[in-house]
Amino acid sequence: MFTDKFARVELAHTPTPLEYLKNLSRKLNGPKIWIKRDDCTGLAMGGNKARQLEYYLGHALQQGADTVLTTGAIQSNHVRMTIAAARKLNLEVEVLIEQQVSGRKVQYYQSGNPFLMQLMGAKIHHHPQGEDEEGADTALFSIAQRLRANGKKPYVIPLSENYQPYGSLGYVDCAVELLKQCNKLSLKADAVVLATGSGATHAGLLTGFRALGYDTPVLGFCTRRDKIAQAQRLLKKSLQVASMIGFDNLISPSDICVDDNMLSPGYGQLTPPLLEAIDLLAQYEGVLLDPTYTGKAMAGMLDLIERKRFCQGQNIIFLHTGGAPALFGYPEILDLQP
Ligand SMILES: *Cc1c(COP(=O)(O)O)cnc(C)c1O
Repeated sequence: MFTDKFARVELAHTPTPLEYLKNLSRKLNGPKIWIKRDDCTGLAMGGNKARQLEYYLGHALQQGADTVLTTGAIQSNHVRMTIAAARKLNLEVEVLIEQQVSGRKVQYYQSGNPFLMQLMGAKIHHHPQGEDEEGADTALFSIAQRLRANGKKPYVIPLSENYQPYGSLGYVDCAVELLKQCNKLSLKADAVVLATGSGATHAGLLTGFRALGYDTPVLGFCTRRDKIAQAQRLLKKSLQVASMIGFDNLISPSDICVDDNMLSPGYGQLTPPLLEAIDLLAQYEGVLLDPTYTGKAMAGMLDLIERKRFCQGQNIIFLHTGGAPALFGYPEILDLQP
């Protein structure tokens, strides 16, 4: 409905299930915990990027692109899924991989996402600088320029916040889908919890809820930058998304909920609460969280439950954004099990 005027290609298996986590909820003896399974979107092992790519690649095809370019970390789920989408749509694909995470084992560089990237056969470029989104985008655009000079029609999916957030439109759709599922179950969501990185997912979901007239809090746990920087980014992005779908002033600063308690010591680094969260979900529910995003968001949510910030009788929906392939890049998780 809100996103109808944008070009889209079908990539994600939707609707994804909304499930009750019975064992976990019983163990925690607090709020009822539900999980929205966007780790099950298909597309070479799933994750939130499938919904985002529907709009980026819709836009790319609309522009007559024959080659897709994007960038991300060594264990990037976004890069893995962009390659899969390009393969499915028979487009060429070139990716720029950034060195962002230090102190990792050899598997980090070879297993999980990097393995799958090679299997699907993208052309890979390397970028030495991590945490420099604009620099990575500049490098992408210069590759695009070279391709254009050779008669190709490249389409860049950028990383920094200076571009229209097409990917967020996929999460406007997800908000509509999720509210429909809640209504069917007569479930009132007291909060939705997720991991927030680029902010595309968070901004899209929040904007979708508000556009539908729901004031459900959407709480994002930071994975990349502190809450002040992330909140600024989310406000800007949400207003951009709102304006793309025809709403002015839909989002105000009080709509932006972020928490960075689980961020330290930084992107892609393991911490005790993260390891506990991964273990708990694996052993109580057979749900696989990832070490970079969903594990941190779950750790943050468990911490808030422990501190009684959510109470009995409330319903919390955890948005599982995927990422489990990265587990294979962190074999030390087993050695560090509590
Ligand atoms: C990319 C990613 C996120 C963050 O999503 P954004 O839209 O960039 O904020 C969260 N979880 C997983 C598993 C991801 O791959």
